[in-house]
Amino acid sequence: MIVDAELLLNFQRCSRRAFLDVYGDSSERDATSDYLLKILQDSRSHQRSILASMNFAEPHYPKGDWQAGAKATLELMQQGVERISQGVLLAEQGGATLLSIPDLLVKQPGESIFGDWLYIPMDIKLGKRPKQEYQIIAVFHSFVLGQVQGAWAEQAWLILRERGEYPVDLWDVLPKLQEILEDCIRTIGDRQEPEVFIARNRCGLCHWFNHCYAIAKSDNHLSLLPGITPVRYTQLQEIQLTTVKALAETHPSQLEPLPGFGREHASKIVRQARSTLTNQAILIEESSDFSTQSSLSKLVGLPNRQPSSFLPTAPVELYFDIEAEPGMNLVYLHGVLVVDRIANTQVFYPFLAEAPHEEAQVWQQFLELVWQYPTAPIFHFCPFEVQTVERLAKLYRTPSDKIKPLLPRFVDLHDWVTRLVTLPVESYALKAIARWVGFEWRDPSANGAQAVFWYAQWLETGDRNFLDTILVYNEDDCRATYHVKDWLVQFLTSVYRAEFA
Ligand code: SF4
Repeated sequence: MIVDAELLLNFQRCSRRAFLDVYGDSSERDATSDYLLKILQDSRSHQRSILASMNFAEPHYPKGDWQAGAKATLELMQQGVERISQGVLLAEQGGATLLSIPDLLVKQPGESIFGDWLYIPMDIKLGKRPKQEYQIIAVFHSFVLGQVQGAWAEQAWLILRERGEYPVDLWDVLPKLQEILEDCIRTIGDRQEPEVFIARNRCGLCHWFNHCYAIAKSDNHLSLLPGITPVRYTQLQEIQLTTVKALAETHPSQLEPLPGFGREHASKIVRQARSTLTNQAILIEESSDFSTQSSLSKLVGLPNRQPSSFLPTAPVELYFDIEAEPGMNLVYLHGVLVVDRIANTQVFYPFLAEAPHEEAQVWQQFLELVWQYPTAPIFHFCPFEVQTVERLAKLYRTPSDKIKPLLPRFVDLHDWVTRLVTLPVESYALKAIARWVGFEWRDPSANGAQAVFWYAQWLETGDRNFLDTILVYNEDDCRATYHVKDWLVQFLTSVYRAEFA
C-alpha cells in the first residue's frame, strides 16, 4: 500500500474519498469539472512561475518507478545539489510505503547522513492562507525526509501566493500528522469503507459526489438534512435516531441535553426533519416551541400587520446578483432585474466588465441604475453583494451620499427565508430553495464556480459564447431571487389569513 501526499490530503478532507480513490470503481467517478481543471492549471502555472526564478536539479527515472526515483534523488542529495525539484522520497510505516514528492528540497547547513548538510522540504501552493491541511502535508514531507537523510529538518516551508514563504513548525504539527497517518493506514489497510456523509462544503468539488449522493438519496441519509453535522450525526446515532422519520417524531426536549444542541438547535433539527418528511414549508415562529399558541402575531409584532408590511414590497423592486473572479479580486458583473409591479414589466440590466480594467466603469453604471429608483428595495441572496458594494465604494472613493443611503435599501433574502421558514430542502442555497418553489435555471449545470471558469475562458479565447452563458446564468439568479421573494410573501400571507381571517 502506498500513501502519498494526495491520498493523505484527501483523507483529511474525507476518509471515504481516500478509500474510494484506492478501491472505488473508477467508472463511477465524476469527470473533473471545468472549474477544478482551471484550478489545477492555475496551480501548475503558479509553480512554474516560482521555479522559473531558481536553479534546481530534477531526478530522472522511468515514470511511476518510485524506487528508481528515490535512488536518483538520493544521489542528488549525496552530491549536495543546492535545490532539487520533484525529488522522490520513500519510507516505511505500519506496513505502508510513504511516498513524498515535495516541490523543492533545499540544502541547508546541518548534520545528516550526507555530511554537514541536510535538506528541508518546500511546497508551492496557489492558496493565500497556510491552511492546516497544507501544513500537515508539509510536515509529511519532513517526516519522510527525516527517515531518508537520518536527520530532522526543524521546519517545513510553504510558498504561498502573495504571502510568500511560510515556515511550518514541525513539532507543532507532527502529532496531528501522526494521528492522521495512522488513521489513514488503518482505514485503507482494513478495507473498511467509511459511511457516506454528504457535507456540501467538502463534497461539492469531490469526484465521487454523484456516486455518494445516489447512495445518500436512496438511504434517505440524515446528512441530507441541513443542520446535521458529522458530530451531531454521531450523537444521534448513539441515541438510535438514524432516520428522518424517527427524528421528525422526536420531541426536541430529547435532543436538548446533547452537547452542542441546546434548545435552539434541537428545535431547528426536529423542525427540519418534519418539513422534509411532510414536504411542507413550516413557519419557524409558529412551531419553535411546539405549542399550539398562535405566533404570527409574535413575528409581525402586531396582529393586524400584513406580511407585505414587514417584508419590503414596493411598486419597483430591484433584484441584484454579482459575479466575481476571486483569483483576480475582480467584480466583473453587476446584474440587476428591475421589477415594476405597476407597469408589470421586468427588465434585466447586466453591467459587465469585458476586460478587468472596466471594473470601475461597471461599478458606476450600477450606481446610476440603482439611483434611478431611489426608494426601491434591492433584494439579494446572502451578504456577499452588500459586502462587495461596501468594498467597491471604498476602492473607488464613491461619495458617501451615494453609498450611505443605499445600504439600508439592501434586503438579504437568505436571511429572511432562514429566519422565517423551514423548507424541505437539502441546503438553504438559492438554487435549492428556488427549485423547491418551482423556479428552474435555463442552464441547470450553471453555478458560481462554472462562471469563474467561463470568464477565464472569455479572457483567454475572446469567445463571446462564454460571456453570453454567464449573462443567462446571472439573470436567472436574479429571477430566482425574485421568485423566492414572491413565494415567501404568498406563504406568509396564507399563514396570516389562516390565523387572522
Ligand atoms: S462525495 Fe463527500 S462523502 Fe463522498 S467521497 Fe466525496 S467528500 Fe466523501
